[in-house]
Amino acid sequence: MLTRPNAPKIMRKEIKVTQRITLSENDGNIEKDSKGSLPEIRNSPSSYNENSDSKSHYSEADDLEIGLCTSTCEPKGMINESNDCFFIACLQFLLCIPEFVDYLKSWKPDNRESPILESLIKISNEIDNKADESPVDISHCRKLFNDEFEEGYQHCANQLILALFDKIQFSCNNVTKVFQCYEEKDSDKVWEQYLSDRGSIVDKLFVGMYKRSFKCKECLIEQIHYDEFKSIPLPCTKESGKSMPGVISNIGEEVEESTFLCKKKCKGERDCTITATIIHYPEYLILPFQRQDCFTQEKIEEKMYFNQEFTEAHHKIEYTLQSFIFHMGSLDSGHYFSLCKVGESWYKCNDERVTKVDPENLEGYKDNAYILIYKKKAN
Ligand SMILES: [Zn+2]
Repeated sequence: MLTRPNAPKIMRKEIKVTQRITLSENDGNIEKDSKGSLPEIRNSPSSYNENSDSKSHYSEADDLEIGLCTSTCEPKGMINESNDCFFIACLQFLLCIPEFVDYLKSWKPDNRESPILESLIKISNEIDNKADESPVDISHCRKLFNDEFEEGYQHCANQLILALFDKIQFSCNNVTKVFQCYEEKDSDKVWEQYLSDRGSIVDKLFVGMYKRSFKCKECLIEQIHYDEFKSIPLPCTKESGKSMPGVISNIGEEVEESTFLCKKKCKGERDCTITATIIHYPEYLILPFQRQDCFTQEKIEEKMYFNQEFTEAHHKIEYTLQSFIFHMGSLDSGHYFSLCKVGESWYKCNDERVTKVDPENLEGYKDNAYILIYKKKAN
């Protein structure tokens, strides 16, 4: 565990995943954060070039059918060169996901270059090489993120996951614009449209979609907006800690009061009721705890409870725990590692060391859980 007295905050500002959305398509009207006071949204793929042409990045690997995977993904240690535990914890959970590793194995460069995929493939091949037990060099992958995540410092694992996903999407998808869809009533069509435009492995495995209905309190007219998400932050308070299974199972629907720009009739800012419903549940659902107090900026050390399994209350979608990322220490310094399930075995992936963990002993690690990753059960 490396710490630096003057290291930047590892979790920085906790990010809300709901996208900053514009209720008007392009008429320069006010932008309204659908969550009212919540900060800027990390989920927006800021690195995307909206003007990029839609030359095809398509390859056979993109046809990969989810659910028919062959990779076993037993983890291997990774070399922590300089405060890279946040980076390693994310790679470990990602490379324990069989569908993702299958994708890497079937990926061929064709006519495109993808430094991120090439780097992940190299790491994945080294993990597979059972003849060599030494920890894997990940520095070539770490370097790809030096601009956003300064070398030598620890950063927020949740932000890294989103940046990693952005990079993969950017190198695989034909369309790189933020998805915008208004007023379509058929939710299935919206998701189909999204996937036909994109369909990278990240979209197939980790992206979900919200439908938000904004109902004006004055004219009672509704405006609908769809937006994708890659994670759903969970509150981290004493109360939610005691009833965390309940909090998790209620992610599928939320109602809140806010204000919005009523375009259809009132033509101005009005109070509204927002109903957010998940219309597509990702195969792998990423749930980070909001462990930074937005007022004091201190880390919230509350013990959080969560179950191995949960059923989403509104749509009865069942999820089972796939892995979780653990963080101990303060916001200024600390250490990350991940616990990953492969088959029926659990592994503790702690930098260079990977050890099997008795599932009975998982409870002890839950206190400091920071990011939960659940896998959707086949129905
Ligand atoms: Zn109105």
